[in-house]
Amino acid sequence: MPNQKRNHTTAQVRAWIAQGVQRLGVDEMRLRAARLLGWQLLNASNLVPTRVQARHEQRFPKARRLLLANQAASGSIALDGMTDAARQRNGVAAVAQVDGGCPCRGTGGITLGGAEPGESYERLCPVHRAAEILAHHRARRAGA
Ligand SMILES: [Zn+2]
Repeated sequence: MPNQKRNHTTAQVRAWIAQGVQRLGVDEMRLRAARLLGWQLLNASNLVPTRVQARHEQRFPKARRLLLANQAASGSIALDGMTDAARQRNGVAAVAQVDGGCPCRGTGGITLGGAEPGESYERLCPVHRAAEILAHHRARRAGA
């Protein structure tokens, strides 16, 4: 796994991926990827609860290393592509999980705002309502 930004060969990146799969196993790799995706979805909306952030930092103590690994993995996907099965499995945010409890508590809605009536509002959970959010953005782009 990369520790520094360098130009790594495709063969080296493939070897790191294979090493990770061998060390952790496919099920653990998929679980970690699902939890990372859940964290990324919440983080993009600035909705990561403290307990979820703590677990994320425990799992990935070196943020820069995670960034570099993500960049290498993205490059790997760009070069090697994905199988149809992987694309189908990973293409939807429905695979995302939140380690430590989603702020929506599984309801799909997150209440934000003040404590006074009229100051709070509910927004869609970026993890559990991802498909609906994506469909909304696609419809807006299409001019609907
Ligand atoms: Zn949720």
